[in-house]
Amino acid sequence: MTLSNWQHIYPTDDWIEHKLVGLDCICEPKIDWENSLVIHNSADGREIKEVMSVKKDILEALKSEIAWCVKNHKKSRDIDQGLYIQEKGFINGLRQAVRIIKKV
Ligand SMILES: [Zn+2]
Repeated sequence: MTLSNWQHIYPTDDWIEHKLVGLDCICEPKIDWENSLVIHNSADGREIKEVMSVKKDILEALKSEIAWCVKNHKKSRDIDQGLYIQEKGFINGLRQAVRIIKKV
């Protein structure tokens, strides 16, 4: 089996040029080894939309986690100073995660 036997499946009217020789391409295609298929990804936002939707879900989950922690964090201030400081660090970590995810 040589590389020239591979079939390429790629989106038409895409705004990037797919490499139709070999197994690598800018779109990071899926390789179907069994059927010698190179399945290209569209770059016109079809996959990006899916990623954005997952990103939104992660941000929502993190925000509700932060809200829950902040609410309970206030209670621990009068009970245990050590725990209060630990929680503060944890909440800051979650907020940092939100900032990083928003950037990517
Ligand atoms: Zn491609």
